[in-house]
Amino acid sequence: MLNKNNKNEYLIFFSPCEFTKGFSKALISDIQRGQLTSVNSDVYDFVKASHKKNIHEIVQEYNTDSEDFVESYINYFLENDFAFIGSFDDTKMFMDIPLHFESPSHITTVVIEHSENNFEQIETILKQIDSVLTPTVQYVSFEEIMTIEQIMHLNKLFSSCTNIAAISFVLKYHDGLEFEKLPQVLKTGEFFELIIHSAPSNFNHENYIIYIDEKISSNSQCGNISEDTFSVNMPHFTESQKFNTCLNRKISIDKKGNVKNCLSMETVYGSIFEDDIKNIIKAKSFQILWHINKDSIEVCKDCEFRLVCTDCRCFIKDPQNIHSQPSKCFYNPYIAKWKGEEGYVSIEDCGSYSKESGFTPNHKKIAEINKQLWES
Ligand code: SF4
Ligand code: SF4
Repeated sequence: MLNKNNKNEYLIFFSPCEFTKGFSKALISDIQRGQLTSVNSDVYDFVKASHKKNIHEIVQEYNTDSEDFVESYINYFLENDFAFIGSFDDTKMFMDIPLHFESPSHITTVVIEHSENNFEQIETILKQIDSVLTPTVQYVSFEEIMTIEQIMHLNKLFSSCTNIAAISFVLKYHDGLEFEKLPQVLKTGEFFELIIHSAPSNFNHENYIIYIDEKISSNSQCGNISEDTFSVNMPHFTESQKFNTCLNRKISIDKKGNVKNCLSMETVYGSIFEDDIKNIIKAKSFQILWHINKDSIEVCKDCEFRLVCTDCRCFIKDPQNIHSQPSKCFYNPYIAKWKGEEGYVSIEDCGSYSKESGFTPNHKKIAEINKQLWES
């Protein structure tokens, strides 16, 4: 609690707590603890107004009658471990975290879709992707069944590549999968993650393998946005400042060996069997989507979740407009409501679309809706 006599002391926010303002609400992202807290926009304004000021100066900022008001805000931050009270010297010790994103790799993720052809020619594929520094490879199988022997074979080959740091398999559940042999699979590679989808909901989970009961039959089920899909960590938060958090530095190789930005997209940039991957990733056209971040996406640019959310550029509201909102998002940042919540109104009812200017929020209408929602 704030000691009212300490007027010369400072309110210091913990560096990993980042504040993002949206149209209607603000968000506190505690990047270290992986926690999100939704707050009113005036909390954000208070944080900005009190930055590097002592308690006396903060009260002055708000006018002299506002002591109780300032105290209640400060106590909120102290009680929730977002800030502490310190001296002027302490303010110099707790610097802002740099949010600049750097990566030593041109490519950070390669997604390979399983097919008989890709499996048979995996050594050709690996030779190509091992020629670029690739921290993560994800090998996915939606409908096709894979045997333990196939998985072990792949894992061994992946592990022998010098430039691949982590391997993740996403495989379909089937009764013939020899579950008792799965622990052996783990031993065949140094870096390994195994996710098995379409598992029966009552399946007995083992702690080192992730089973999910969602039935996945193709990549078209990707791109759903919900609070469960938000990522609260430093790599995502820094990358999202400038880049697209799904497609930046990512390569997807479909069943036929076509190289794309995402498996669900139609545009093909070359063949993993015929073209040099280094030339494909160097092409400006391949990199265009890497730079479309939430600040340039309609609706998302007004959303408080924009720095922790996934930037799907495949399933979008207007396929002719690459800057339109993800179509699988059902959050309305103009009124801070998810679809299904009481009082939810769709984005479409909060503004208008035109081909030329995209989505334009109707401020008067939004103010009326918010008044009804939050002030009644
Ligand atoms: S509006 Fe955009 S940023 Fe906000 S939750 Fe939806 S997709 Fe994410
Ligand atoms: S662009 Fe969308 S569909 Fe493609 S991988 Fe990303 S989230 Fe999934």
